[in-house]
Amino acid sequence: MAGQKTQVVIAGGGIAGTAAALALHRAGLEVVVCEAHPRTAGDLGAFLTLASNGMRALGQFGAAEAVSRAGFDLTSMSALDENGTELVSRPMGEHEDPLTRFRCLRWSELTAALQAEVVAQGIELRHGAALVSAREEADGVTAELADGSTVTAQLLVGADGLNSGVRQMIDPGAAGPRYAGQRVFYGYTKEFVPPSVPGRITMVRGRAANFGYTVSPEGQTYWFARQTADALEHVGTEPSPQLRAELAEGLRQDRTPAADIVAATGGILATNARDLPQVEKWHSERILIIGDAAHAASPATGQGASMAFEDAVVLAKALRDSENQSDALKEYEQLRRPRTEYNIAASAAMTGASGPPPKLPPAPFSDEDVARQLDWETPLP
Ligand SMILES: Cc1cc2nc3c(=O)[nH]c(=O)nc-3n(C[C@H](O)[C@H](O)[C@H](O)COP(=O)(O)OP(=O)(O)OC[C@H]3O[C@@H](n4cnc5c(N)ncnc54)[C@H](O)[C@@H]3O)c2cc1C
Repeated sequence: MAGQKTQVVIAGGGIAGTAAALALHRAGLEVVVCEAHPRTAGDLGAFLTLASNGMRALGQFGAAEAVSRAGFDLTSMSALDENGTELVSRPMGEHEDPLTRFRCLRWSELTAALQAEVVAQGIELRHGAALVSAREEADGVTAELADGSTVTAQLLVGADGLNSGVRQMIDPGAAGPRYAGQRVFYGYTKEFVPPSVPGRITMVRGRAANFGYTVSPEGQTYWFARQTADALEHVGTEPSPQLRAELAEGLRQDRTPAADIVAATGGILATNARDLPQVEKWHSERILIIGDAAHAASPATGQGASMAFEDAVVLAKALRDSENQSDALKEYEQLRRPRTEYNIAASAAMTGASGPPPKLPPAPFSDEDVARQLDWETPLP
C-alpha cells in the first residue's frame, strides 16, 4: 500500500513541532505533523514563562495572538535575598506591546493553543502517530509510524523532545540527557496568596533553594523551586512526604513567603533538571532535529520554548530562501547552534553553581542580529 506523501513530515506535535509546522506552512510548504500522544497532552504540572524573544518569534508566523489568549502577562520582576529584602525590581522584556510581553502559562495550555492553531490553519495533525523509524533515500525520506502507516517527504523534522529517538536515528552514538544538578518543584495554590503586584514575578535566591512565585489574575499562586541536590529517584506529581517536608524546611530558613506557599499547596510536581550539553549532529541529508531534541537546556534561563519558536522561524526562512534543502539545513545550523549552545551554557551556570553564576563569554549574536534573523521579511544573512 502506498503511504502518504508531503513535503515535510514533523515527528512530535509539542512546542517545537507545532511551531515549526506553522512557520513552514507560512513559508508555503506542505506539512504533516505526527504526534505520539493519542490526544492533546494532559497537564504535566509545570508552567512556563515565555520570554519576549519567544513571543516575537511566534508573531512571525501568526501564533502570538493564539498563545496570548492562554495564561497571563508578566510585566515586571522583583528579586529578593534570603531575608526578603528586595535587591532589584524592574520591568520585563518588551512589556509595552501585549504581543511581546513575557507570558506565564501551563505547558499543556501552550501545547493546546499551538495544536489548535495548527488545525485552524488546515495543517494535518495526526495524534497517536508515533514515529518508530525512518528510511532515507536519494529522493526522499519515509517516516514509519507505530500503526504501520508511512509518510514520505523531502524532509523529516524530529521535534520529539529531550529523549528524542530521531536524534539516535541521525547519530546512533549520540549522548542522551544528563542530570544538570538541581531538583525542580512546581505547584499552584489558592490557599496562600502572598502580597503581590499584578503581572509581577518574584525570584528569591534562598539559602536552600531558588524560589519563584507569581499570582495569576484569578488569585492562584504559581510557584517553582530549584534545589541543588542529588537527582531524584522518582519524578512526577506527589513526591514523598519526606521530600516535601525537606523542601519546606529548607525554605523556612528564609524570611520570605516561600515556605508558607509550599505548605499550602496540595499536589506538587517534582522533577530533575536535565540538559544536553553537546549534540554533535543535528542533521543528515533529509532528517533534522529541532527544539529540545537538538539543544535542551536546564530550566533556569526559562528559554527552552522561546528557543524552539526561534528554531521554527529560522528553519522556515532558510528553506524559503535557500537554493536547495541541503544549503538550508547548513544555514539553519550555522545560525541556531551558537545561540542555543550559549543558552545551554548559561542555564547550566545558573543551575550548578551555589553563589553568583560564573561569567559567560559574550552572547554569540547581538539583539539586533537576532531581531534580523527572526524578522519574516528580512532574508537570512
Ligand atoms: C521543569 C521544566 C521547566 C521549564 N520551564 C521553562 C520555562 O519557564 N520557559 C521555557 O521557555 N521553557 C521551559 N522549559 C523547557 C521547555 O519545556 C522545552 O524547551 C520545550 O518543551 C521543548 O519543546 P519540544 O517540542 O522540543 O519538546 P516537548 O515539549 O517535549 O515535545 C515533544 C513532543 O514530541 C512527542 N513525541 C515524542 N516522541 C515521539 C515520537 N516517536 N513520534 C511522535 N511524537 C513524539 C511528545 O509526545 C511531545 O508532544 C522547562 C522544562 C522543564 C523540564
